[in-house]
Amino acid sequence: MALTLDVDADAWRAHLARVLERNPGLVPVIKGNGYGFGLTRLAAEASRLGVDTIAVGVRREVDVVRPYFSGDIHVLEPWHPRLAGDQVGESDPKIVRTLAHPEAVAIFSGTNYRAVVELRTSMRRHGLLQAPHAGRLRSLGWSLHLPLVGDPVEESREILKAHGITEGTVWLSHVQGDKLKALQKSVRSVKLRPRIGTALWLGDRKTFRARATVLDVHDVSRGDRVGYRQNHMLRNGYLIVVSGGTSHGIGLEAPKSVAGAIPRGKVFAAGALAAGGLSLSPFTIDGKHRWFAEPPHMQVSLVVLHEDETPPAIGDEVPVDVRMTTATFDRVTGF
Ligand SMILES: *Cc1c(COP(=O)(O)O)cnc(C)c1O
Repeated sequence: MALTLDVDADAWRAHLARVLERNPGLVPVIKGNGYGFGLTRLAAEASRLGVDTIAVGVRREVDVVRPYFSGDIHVLEPWHPRLAGDQVGESDPKIVRTLAHPEAVAIFSGTNYRAVVELRTSMRRHGLLQAPHAGRLRSLGWSLHLPLVGDPVEESREILKAHGITEGTVWLSHVQGDKLKALQKSVRSVKLRPRIGTALWLGDRKTFRARATVLDVHDVSRGDRVGYRQNHMLRNGYLIVVSGGTSHGIGLEAPKSVAGAIPRGKVFAAGALAAGGLSLSPFTIDGKHRWFAEPPHMQVSLVVLHEDETPPAIGDEVPVDVRMTTATFDRVTGF
């Protein structure tokens, strides 16, 4: 009963090497669900790549990746005295903190602990509006977290100029490849460290694939009741039980912006179907996404097939389109 991620490890690693080559100073970002691969696996891959620093989202993740990576670990979440469960005086000298508030800068000043100072960008998530006098701070440079839209090169340039930053290191998010090259050209004596997660680990979708196992197959007739909710089957056909449920992140979708790219009519139609108890599943049988019979269960899902189709057999594997940043797999193969 497994949801499996199959990785073509050679091809995936070739992609990782290309990203490293195109992004000198790369800092791989390893956080959350480990982009579907898992935190420890990615930490081991970062060691293989030979980078000197990785970034994690939160302090707790340092302990998870530490056995697999011996270099510096940059914690992206800013340290703040009112949020920090841990104290400044912790022992790992290879942790690089992010400071994004004057009170945090004040506490770190005069200590031996290493940090980067985050400056406010148009993201407005964190970051200082005024670059502090980093004189007594053991600072490894400045940090910029840039939005995915807009011109990150221009914005970085403007921020560095506004703060009079002409040397040292700038840790950047969401500036990579040609944009990184262009920015490096215009800020010659600043050393850039691009922090990359998605484009690194998930940048070549052809190199990995998720599959589910068919666990059971039942003939059903129109009007039969099925599942926890005892929905009526709308047609004669088959009820297919597949591995993969809410505990694997199945059925979680990114919130969609109605004002954005998706036409309102389509959202309305999908909403109406969902209201009627139907939604399209990420499970593919014979090349087509299949309807859920009801919302996914903890570890399995129920999907329906029309009577004219040939049902899969128990033990068959079917492809699943999972969202890698919310997926948890039972198995990862290929390594
Ligand atoms: C998550 C995160 C990244 C990496 O983002 P990707 O889109 O996965 O490359 C970089 N910087 C910060 C501050 C982050 O929180």
